[in-house]
Amino acid sequence: MTYSFELGPIRPPSEAYSLLIRVTRNCPWNRCKFCHTYKGEKFQLRSVEEIKQDIRTAKAIQDKIKELSWKSGHGGRVKEIAATVLNNPPSAAFHNVALWLYAGGESAFLQDANSLIMRTNELVEVIKYLKETFPSIKRVTSYARANTAAKKKLDELIELRKAGLSRLHIGLESGYDPLLQYIDKGVTAAVHITGGRKVVESGISLCEYVILGLGGREMWREHATQTAKVLNEIDPDFIRVRTLAINSRMPLHEEIENGNFIRATDEEILEEERLLIEHLECHSNYVSDHITNLLQEVEGQLPQDKEKMLASIDRFRSLPPEEKLNFRVGRRVGMYTELDDLNDLPKRQAVEQVVHRLSRGSNEIDEKTIYRLTGSFI
Ligand code: SF4
Repeated sequence: MTYSFELGPIRPPSEAYSLLIRVTRNCPWNRCKFCHTYKGEKFQLRSVEEIKQDIRTAKAIQDKIKELSWKSGHGGRVKEIAATVLNNPPSAAFHNVALWLYAGGESAFLQDANSLIMRTNELVEVIKYLKETFPSIKRVTSYARANTAAKKKLDELIELRKAGLSRLHIGLESGYDPLLQYIDKGVTAAVHITGGRKVVESGISLCEYVILGLGGREMWREHATQTAKVLNEIDPDFIRVRTLAINSRMPLHEEIENGNFIRATDEEILEEERLLIEHLECHSNYVSDHITNLLQEVEGQLPQDKEKMLASIDRFRSLPPEEKLNFRVGRRVGMYTELDDLNDLPKRQAVEQVVHRLSRGSNEIDEKTIYRLTGSFI
Protein backbone atom coordinates (compact mmCIF):
# COMPACT_ATOMS: atom_id res chain seq x y z
CA MET A 1 0.00 0.00 0.00
CA THR A 2 1.56 3.33 -1.10
CA TYR A 3 -0.78 5.54 0.93
CA SER A 4 -0.54 8.15 -1.77
CA PHE A 5 -3.02 9.80 -4.11
CA GLU A 6 -2.90 12.68 -6.52
CA LEU A 7 -3.09 16.25 -5.24
CA GLY A 8 -3.45 19.47 -7.22
CA PRO A 9 -1.35 22.55 -6.48
CA ILE A 10 -3.86 24.87 -4.80
CA ARG A 11 -7.08 25.26 -2.82
CA PRO A 12 -8.69 28.40 -1.37
CA PRO A 13 -7.37 29.52 2.05
CA SER A 14 -10.78 28.69 3.52
CA GLU A 15 -10.23 25.04 2.48
CA ALA A 16 -6.89 24.67 4.27
CA TYR A 17 -8.25 21.80 6.38
CA SER A 18 -10.33 20.09 3.72
CA LEU A 19 -9.73 16.66 2.27
CA LEU A 20 -8.40 17.37 -1.23
CA ILE A 21 -9.71 15.21 -4.07
CA ARG A 22 -8.41 15.97 -7.55
CA VAL A 23 -11.24 15.45 -10.03
CA THR A 24 -9.58 17.17 -13.01
CA ARG A 25 -6.01 18.27 -13.69
CA ASN A 26 -5.04 21.92 -14.23
CA CYS A 27 -7.14 24.60 -15.95
CA PRO A 28 -9.09 24.20 -19.21
CA TRP A 29 -8.71 27.94 -19.90
CA ASN A 30 -5.26 28.73 -18.55
CA ARG A 31 -4.95 32.13 -20.21
CA CYS A 32 -5.57 34.69 -17.46
CA LYS A 33 -2.67 37.14 -17.42
CA PHE A 34 -2.50 37.45 -13.64
CA CYS A 35 -2.42 33.69 -12.97
CA HIS A 36 0.62 31.45 -12.94
CA THR A 37 -0.75 28.37 -11.21
CA TYR A 38 -1.19 26.02 -14.17
CA LYS A 39 0.91 27.70 -16.83
CA GLY A 40 2.68 25.11 -18.97
CA GLU A 41 0.37 22.32 -17.71
CA LYS A 42 -2.19 20.63 -19.90
CA PHE A 43 -5.79 20.30 -18.79
CA GLN A 44 -7.04 16.73 -18.34
CA LEU A 45 -10.27 15.16 -17.23
CA ARG A 46 -9.82 12.20 -14.88
CA SER A 47 -11.96 9.09 -15.10
CA VAL A 48 -14.51 8.46 -12.39
CA GLU A 49 -12.77 5.17 -11.58
CA GLU A 50 -9.42 6.92 -11.15
CA ILE A 51 -10.98 9.47 -8.78
CA LYS A 52 -12.77 6.73 -6.82
CA GLN A 53 -9.45 4.94 -6.41
CA ASP A 54 -8.01 8.12 -4.83
CA ILE A 55 -11.00 8.29 -2.49
CA ARG A 56 -10.41 4.65 -1.49
CA THR A 57 -6.75 5.45 -0.80
CA ALA A 58 -7.79 8.39 1.38
CA LYS A 59 -10.06 5.96 3.27
CA ALA A 60 -7.18 3.51 3.69
CA ILE A 61 -5.08 6.32 5.19
CA GLN A 62 -7.91 7.20 7.54
CA ASP A 63 -8.19 3.52 8.57
CA LYS A 64 -4.44 3.35 9.14
CA ILE A 65 -4.54 6.41 11.40
CA LYS A 66 -7.44 4.85 13.34
CA GLU A 67 -5.51 1.57 13.67
CA LEU A 68 -2.50 3.48 15.05
CA SER A 69 -4.84 5.18 17.50
CA TRP A 70 -6.11 1.83 18.84
CA LYS A 71 -2.60 0.42 19.03
CA SER A 72 -1.29 3.41 20.96
CA GLY A 73 -4.12 3.37 23.51
CA HIS A 74 -6.11 6.32 22.16
CA GLY A 75 -9.24 4.21 21.69
CA GLY A 76 -9.72 4.96 17.98
CA ARG A 77 -9.68 8.73 18.49
CA VAL A 78 -7.78 10.20 15.58
CA LYS A 79 -6.85 13.72 16.67
CA GLU A 80 -3.76 12.80 18.74
CA ILE A 81 -2.40 10.38 16.13
CA ALA A 82 -3.14 12.80 13.29
CA ALA A 83 -1.08 15.44 15.15
CA THR A 84 1.84 13.00 15.47
CA VAL A 85 1.61 12.00 11.80
CA LEU A 86 1.73 15.67 10.78
CA ASN A 87 5.29 15.90 12.16
CA ASN A 88 6.57 13.32 9.71
CA PRO A 89 3.98 12.22 7.12
CA PRO A 90 5.02 9.44 4.70
CA SER A 91 3.42 11.27 1.74
CA ALA A 92 1.70 14.56 0.85
CA ALA A 93 -1.61 12.66 0.68
CA PHE A 94 -1.05 11.19 4.15
CA HIS A 95 -0.37 14.73 5.41
CA ASN A 96 -3.60 15.99 3.82
CA VAL A 97 -5.74 13.22 5.36
CA ALA A 98 -4.09 13.66 8.79
CA LEU A 99 -4.66 17.43 8.70
CA TRP A 100 -8.25 16.94 7.62
CA LEU A 101 -8.88 14.43 10.43
CA TYR A 102 -7.13 16.68 12.94
CA ALA A 103 -9.60 19.45 11.98
CA GLY A 104 -12.62 17.18 12.41
CA GLY A 105 -12.91 15.56 8.96
CA GLU A 106 -16.00 17.47 7.87
CA SER A 107 -15.10 19.17 4.59
CA ALA A 108 -13.73 18.20 1.20
CA PHE A 109 -12.48 20.32 -1.69
CA LEU A 110 -12.54 19.07 -5.29
CA GLN A 111 -9.51 20.19 -7.33
CA ASP A 112 -8.41 21.73 -9.79
CA ALA A 113 -9.55 24.95 -11.48
CA ASN A 114 -12.96 24.06 -12.88
CA SER A 115 -14.58 20.85 -11.63
CA LEU A 116 -17.94 21.84 -13.10
CA ILE A 117 -16.53 21.05 -16.52
CA MET A 118 -17.00 17.35 -15.75
CA ARG A 119 -20.14 15.71 -17.07
CA THR A 120 -22.80 16.37 -14.46
CA ASN A 121 -23.67 12.68 -13.99
CA GLU A 122 -19.99 11.84 -13.41
CA LEU A 123 -19.48 14.66 -10.93
CA VAL A 124 -22.65 13.60 -9.11
CA GLU A 125 -21.31 10.03 -8.95
CA VAL A 126 -17.98 11.23 -7.51
CA ILE A 127 -19.60 13.43 -4.87
CA LYS A 128 -22.00 10.67 -3.81
CA TYR A 129 -19.17 8.16 -3.59
CA LEU A 130 -17.09 10.61 -1.54
CA LYS A 131 -19.93 11.18 0.93
CA GLU A 132 -20.75 7.46 1.17
CA THR A 133 -17.08 6.66 1.84
CA PHE A 134 -16.75 9.42 4.43
CA PRO A 135 -20.10 9.98 6.18
CA SER A 136 -18.39 12.62 8.38
CA ILE A 137 -18.14 14.99 5.39
CA LYS A 138 -20.75 17.73 5.68
CA ARG A 139 -19.38 20.19 3.12
CA VAL A 140 -18.06 19.63 -0.41
CA THR A 141 -16.73 22.62 -2.33
CA SER A 142 -14.86 23.32 -5.55
CA TYR A 143 -13.56 25.96 -7.94
CA ALA A 144 -15.57 26.69 -11.09
CA ARG A 145 -15.47 29.07 -14.03
CA ALA A 146 -18.44 31.37 -14.52
CA ASN A 147 -18.94 30.43 -18.16
CA THR A 148 -19.09 26.73 -17.27
CA ALA A 149 -21.68 27.51 -14.59
CA ALA A 150 -23.58 29.61 -17.13
CA LYS A 151 -23.65 26.68 -19.57
CA LYS A 152 -24.98 24.17 -17.04
CA LYS A 153 -28.72 23.79 -16.83
CA LEU A 154 -30.22 24.97 -13.55
CA ASP A 155 -31.52 21.42 -13.00
CA GLU A 156 -27.97 20.07 -13.28
CA LEU A 157 -26.73 22.45 -10.62
CA ILE A 158 -29.65 21.49 -8.42
CA GLU A 159 -28.77 17.82 -8.95
CA LEU A 160 -25.19 18.56 -7.88
CA ARG A 161 -26.42 20.39 -4.79
CA LYS A 162 -28.64 17.45 -3.88
CA ALA A 163 -25.70 15.07 -4.34
CA GLY A 164 -23.79 17.13 -1.77
CA LEU A 165 -22.01 19.98 -3.58
CA SER A 166 -22.24 22.73 -0.98
CA ARG A 167 -20.22 25.63 -2.36
CA LEU A 168 -18.56 26.89 -5.54
CA HIS A 169 -15.64 29.33 -5.58
CA ILE A 170 -15.66 31.44 -8.74
CA GLY A 171 -12.98 33.92 -9.81
CA LEU A 172 -14.90 37.02 -10.81
CA GLU A 173 -11.70 39.10 -10.66
CA SER A 174 -13.48 42.15 -12.14
CA GLY A 175 -16.88 43.15 -13.46
CA TYR A 176 -15.47 45.63 -16.01
CA ASP A 177 -15.55 44.20 -19.53
CA PRO A 178 -12.51 46.03 -21.02
CA LEU A 179 -10.46 44.84 -18.05
CA LEU A 180 -11.79 41.27 -18.28
CA GLN A 181 -10.79 41.34 -21.94
CA TYR A 182 -7.36 42.82 -21.19
CA ILE A 183 -6.53 40.15 -18.60
CA ASP A 184 -7.89 37.47 -20.96
CA LYS A 185 -10.37 36.10 -18.43
CA GLY A 186 -12.48 34.62 -21.21
CA VAL A 187 -15.68 35.74 -19.49
CA THR A 188 -17.79 38.90 -19.81
CA ALA A 189 -19.60 40.66 -16.98
CA ALA A 190 -22.90 39.40 -18.43
CA VAL A 191 -21.70 35.78 -18.36
CA HIS A 192 -20.42 36.27 -14.80
CA ILE A 193 -23.91 37.39 -13.83
CA THR A 194 -25.64 34.50 -15.63
CA GLY A 195 -23.30 31.89 -14.15
CA GLY A 196 -23.33 33.40 -10.67
CA ARG A 197 -27.11 33.82 -10.57
CA LYS A 198 -27.60 30.24 -11.67
CA VAL A 199 -25.42 28.97 -8.84
CA VAL A 200 -27.29 31.12 -6.32
CA GLU A 201 -30.66 29.93 -7.66
CA SER A 202 -29.57 26.30 -7.44
CA GLY A 203 -29.05 26.68 -3.69
CA ILE A 204 -25.31 26.02 -3.91
CA SER A 205 -23.44 28.53 -1.77
CA LEU A 206 -21.37 30.91 -3.90
CA CYS A 207 -18.10 32.64 -3.21
CA GLU A 208 -16.90 35.24 -5.75
CA TYR A 209 -13.25 36.35 -5.77
CA VAL A 210 -12.19 39.88 -6.62
CA ILE A 211 -8.64 41.07 -7.30
CA LEU A 212 -7.92 44.46 -5.76
CA GLY A 213 -5.48 46.48 -7.83
CA LEU A 214 -6.29 44.61 -11.04
CA GLY A 215 -7.41 47.82 -12.75
CA GLY A 216 -3.96 49.31 -12.25
CA ARG A 217 -3.72 53.11 -12.56
CA GLU A 218 -5.78 53.22 -15.73
CA MET A 219 -8.96 51.30 -14.99
CA TRP A 220 -9.24 51.33 -11.19
CA ARG A 221 -12.43 53.41 -10.99
CA GLU A 222 -14.35 51.34 -13.52
CA HIS A 223 -12.93 48.16 -12.02
CA ALA A 224 -14.36 49.15 -8.62
CA THR A 225 -17.76 50.41 -9.74
CA GLN A 226 -18.46 47.76 -12.39
CA THR A 227 -17.31 44.93 -10.12
CA ALA A 228 -19.71 46.21 -7.47
CA LYS A 229 -22.49 46.31 -10.07
CA VAL A 230 -21.92 42.68 -11.07
CA LEU A 231 -21.73 41.56 -7.45
CA ASN A 232 -24.96 43.41 -6.67
CA GLU A 233 -26.66 41.48 -9.48
CA ILE A 234 -25.28 38.12 -8.37
CA ASP A 235 -25.64 38.70 -4.62
CA PRO A 236 -23.28 35.83 -3.68
CA ASP A 237 -22.97 34.47 -0.15
CA PHE A 238 -19.32 35.49 -0.01
CA ILE A 239 -17.10 38.09 -1.66
CA ARG A 240 -13.44 37.34 -1.10
CA VAL A 241 -10.82 39.92 -2.00
CA ARG A 242 -7.13 39.42 -2.67
CA THR A 243 -4.63 42.02 -3.85
CA LEU A 244 -2.79 41.77 -7.13
CA ALA A 245 0.64 40.27 -6.55
CA ILE A 246 2.95 39.54 -9.44
CA ASN A 247 5.67 37.04 -10.16
CA SER A 248 7.69 36.43 -13.30
CA ARG A 249 5.62 33.39 -14.33
CA MET A 250 2.56 35.55 -14.98
CA PRO A 251 1.98 37.10 -18.43
CA LEU A 252 1.07 40.34 -16.63
CA HIS A 253 4.68 40.57 -15.47
CA GLU A 254 5.78 41.17 -19.05
CA GLU A 255 3.03 43.75 -19.52
CA ILE A 256 4.40 45.63 -16.51
CA GLU A 257 7.98 45.35 -17.74
CA ASN A 258 7.11 46.79 -21.14
CA GLY A 259 5.00 49.58 -19.64
CA ASN A 260 1.57 48.40 -20.84
CA PHE A 261 0.24 47.98 -17.30
CA ILE A 262 0.94 50.54 -14.58
CA ARG A 263 0.42 49.10 -11.13
CA ALA A 264 -1.44 51.02 -8.45
CA THR A 265 0.20 51.68 -5.09
CA ASP A 266 -1.12 50.28 -1.79
CA GLU A 267 -2.81 53.57 -1.05
CA GLU A 268 -4.39 53.78 -4.48
CA ILE A 269 -5.66 50.22 -4.11
CA LEU A 270 -7.30 51.19 -0.83
CA GLU A 271 -9.09 54.01 -2.66
CA GLU A 272 -10.26 51.41 -5.17
CA GLU A 273 -11.43 49.08 -2.39
CA ARG A 274 -13.24 51.98 -0.73
CA LEU A 275 -15.07 52.77 -3.97
CA LEU A 276 -15.95 49.10 -4.44
CA ILE A 277 -17.41 48.80 -0.94
CA GLU A 278 -19.26 52.11 -1.28
CA HIS A 279 -21.02 50.76 -4.37
CA LEU A 280 -21.88 47.33 -2.94
CA GLU A 281 -25.60 46.92 -2.29
CA CYS A 282 -25.70 43.16 -1.87
CA HIS A 283 -26.13 40.93 1.16
CA SER A 284 -22.80 39.12 0.98
CA ASN A 285 -20.23 38.33 3.60
CA TYR A 286 -17.17 40.39 2.57
CA VAL A 287 -14.04 38.45 3.50
CA SER A 288 -10.42 39.58 3.34
CA ASP A 289 -8.64 36.32 4.09
CA HIS A 290 -5.50 36.79 2.05
CA ILE A 291 -2.11 37.94 3.25
CA THR A 292 -1.63 40.12 0.17
CA ASN A 293 -4.39 42.47 1.39
CA LEU A 294 -3.06 45.53 3.18
CA LEU A 295 -6.05 45.78 5.53
CA GLN A 296 -7.34 42.32 6.33
CA GLU A 297 -9.59 43.81 8.98
CA VAL A 298 -11.84 45.28 6.27
CA GLU A 299 -14.40 42.52 6.58
CA GLY A 300 -18.05 42.23 7.44
CA GLN A 301 -21.58 41.32 6.59
CA LEU A 302 -23.17 43.57 4.01
CA PRO A 303 -25.00 45.84 4.13
CA GLN A 304 -24.92 46.38 7.89
CA ASP A 305 -21.12 46.46 8.30
CA LYS A 306 -20.41 48.76 5.37
CA GLU A 307 -19.73 51.87 7.47
CA LYS A 308 -17.46 49.95 9.83
CA MET A 309 -15.46 48.63 6.85
CA LEU A 310 -15.14 52.08 5.31
CA ALA A 311 -14.07 53.45 8.70
CA SER A 312 -11.19 50.94 8.84
CA ILE A 313 -9.97 52.19 5.46
CA ASP A 314 -10.35 55.81 6.58
CA ARG A 315 -8.38 55.07 9.73
CA PHE A 316 -5.42 54.08 7.56
CA ARG A 317 -5.91 57.06 5.25
CA SER A 318 -5.72 59.47 8.20
CA LEU A 319 -2.35 58.17 9.45
CA PRO A 320 0.72 60.41 9.08
CA PRO A 321 2.98 59.35 6.16
CA GLU A 322 5.64 57.70 8.37
CA GLU A 323 3.02 55.55 10.12
CA LYS A 324 1.52 54.55 6.79
CA LEU A 325 4.94 53.44 5.61
CA ASN A 326 5.62 51.61 8.86
CA PHE A 327 2.31 49.76 8.57
CA ARG A 328 2.77 48.90 4.90
CA VAL A 329 6.21 47.46 5.52
CA GLY A 330 5.02 45.65 8.65
CA ARG A 331 2.25 44.01 6.62
CA ARG A 332 4.48 43.21 3.67
CA VAL A 333 7.07 41.46 5.82
CA GLY A 334 4.35 39.58 7.73
CA MET A 335 4.90 41.27 11.12
CA TYR A 336 1.54 43.04 11.36
CA THR A 337 -1.94 41.66 10.95
CA GLU A 338 -4.04 44.74 11.74
CA LEU A 339 -3.80 48.49 12.30
CA ASP A 340 -3.83 48.06 16.09
CA ASP A 341 -0.41 46.42 15.72
CA LEU A 342 0.95 49.95 15.32
CA ASN A 343 0.32 50.30 19.07
CA ASP A 344 2.44 47.25 19.86
CA LEU A 345 5.76 48.95 20.71
CA PRO A 346 8.15 45.96 20.34
CA LYS A 347 6.59 45.06 16.98
CA ARG A 348 6.64 48.64 15.83
CA GLN A 349 10.29 49.06 16.74
CA ALA A 350 11.14 45.85 14.90
CA VAL A 351 9.36 47.18 11.79
CA GLU A 352 11.19 50.51 12.15
CA GLN A 353 14.45 48.59 11.91
CA VAL A 354 13.24 46.86 8.73
CA VAL A 355 12.23 50.24 7.25
CA HIS A 356 15.65 51.63 8.19
CA ARG A 357 17.42 48.71 6.53
CA LEU A 358 15.29 48.68 3.35
CA SER A 359 15.53 52.45 2.93
CA ARG A 360 19.25 52.54 3.80
CA GLY A 361 18.45 55.04 6.51
CA SER A 362 16.44 57.44 4.34
CA ASN A 363 12.98 56.27 5.55
CA GLU A 364 11.81 56.32 1.94
CA ILE A 365 11.01 53.05 0.21
CA ASP A 366 10.15 52.83 -3.45
CA GLU A 367 7.06 51.00 -4.66
CA LYS A 368 9.13 48.34 -6.40
CA THR A 369 10.43 47.17 -3.03
CA ILE A 370 6.89 46.98 -1.66
CA TYR A 371 5.72 45.08 -4.76
CA ARG A 372 8.63 42.66 -4.37
CA LEU A 373 7.72 42.00 -0.73
CA THR A 374 4.03 41.51 -1.63
CA GLY A 375 5.00 39.16 -4.46
CA SER A 376 6.93 36.97 -2.05
CA PHE A 377 3.63 35.81 -0.52
CA ILE A 378 2.49 34.00 -3.67
S1 SF4 B 1 -9.46 30.40 -15.02
FE1 SF4 B 1 -8.57 30.46 -12.97
S2 SF4 B 1 -7.01 28.87 -12.92
FE2 SF4 B 1 -7.54 29.22 -15.07
S3 SF4 B 1 -6.01 30.69 -15.81
FE3 SF4 B 1 -7.79 31.86 -15.11
S4 SF4 B 1 -7.40 32.35 -12.94
FE4 SF4 B 1 -5.97 30.72 -13.55
